[in-house]
Amino acid sequence: MKAIITGGAGFIGSAVCRHAVLELGWQVLNLDALTYAANLSSLASIEAHPNYQFIKADVCDRTALDAIFADFQPDCMLHLAAESHVDRSITGSAAFINTNIVGTYTVLEAVRAYHTSCPNFRLLHVSTDEVYGSLGDEGLFTETTPYSPRSPYSASKAASDHLVMAWHETYELNALISNCSNNYGPYHLPEKLIPLMILNALEGKPLPVYGDGSNVRDWLFVDDHARALTTIVQHGRVGETYNVGGRNERTNLQVVETICDLVDALALALPNGQPRRSLIAYVADRPGHDKRYAIDATKLEQELGWRAQENFDTGLRKTVAWFLEHQEWWQPLRWLAAQRQGLLK
Ligand code: NAD
Repeated sequence: MKAIITGGAGFIGSAVCRHAVLELGWQVLNLDALTYAANLSSLASIEAHPNYQFIKADVCDRTALDAIFADFQPDCMLHLAAESHVDRSITGSAAFINTNIVGTYTVLEAVRAYHTSCPNFRLLHVSTDEVYGSLGDEGLFTETTPYSPRSPYSASKAASDHLVMAWHETYELNALISNCSNNYGPYHLPEKLIPLMILNALEGKPLPVYGDGSNVRDWLFVDDHARALTTIVQHGRVGETYNVGGRNERTNLQVVETICDLVDALALALPNGQPRRSLIAYVADRPGHDKRYAIDATKLEQELGWRAQENFDTGLRKTVAWFLEHQEWWQPLRWLAAQRQGLLK
């Protein structure tokens, strides 16, 4: 399998690149514009691998895309390149409109041109459960839940999902969509909730929790997501959407408290001997903060046989241990956490 992975220098994209090259034996071309969110050091384990190559390119650059398709002749593309941070979309939405909507449109047009010469080519557009909006206390998002995006980020992802299905219907592209819940794991940028809390807890800094901490997210270990994506792009039915999630709902406060307990157990105690839970500080809520997300992944499990291998307790323990052991990876990125003091996606 020859796959183009867009956004392969990001958090999830790098996990997909590592999985595809090291575990599946695919030939991978990582296409990434290297924004602030990219980190090529996350790819150190495959950078010299003969089945891996990196090209710096913008998904909005049609000329570059055409040249890459013509030269690499891929069997499939996993499109992950995006602006992904909800808080940044609130303070500056232009990049989200450009990359997430115009970039996906440009990818679709490049695929439309390429698939005339490669009719079996498959495109997987990687999206989020946030397109479905916010749940009350009960219920789960399924593939038929109506779209109701509520942040600039989720609106831009919803728009790109609609473009993908329109190009499938109109131009018969072999396109699929996956909508996944919140990811966490190794190589996660420290502006996002879980790595930010791990590093602040480690260093005895305040742990800012939005509102009262009762917002619920459904967490999935990133390597489980990577396996889901490579499964869907190979075996999913074109024109279909697959929800991806691990049935791990937690309130934000539960997440932060669990991180505190794990850091207390795995790292040196704070100088004052206080438990890390004492660092929790409630801050003003995010505007339009969705109350609850929860994914029903039954279709993916039953049709394609995928199962999450990690539950939240095993995955979070692995994640905390990884951050404790890989200071050389996150230390150069610590400024991102300092820049963003709120509770992040
Ligand atoms: P990320 O922000 O960590 O990485 C995004 C990558 O895309 C970066 O390497 C960046 O350089 C690249 N990129 C940005 N703009 C680009 C452009 N114009 N051209 C080429 N490359 C560009 O994101 P992530 O958390 O790894 O998310 C990857 C995808 O998965 C996104 O599409 C996101 O919407 C989706 N998703 C993320 C989550 C999550 O919890 N992180 C959950 C569900 C879906």
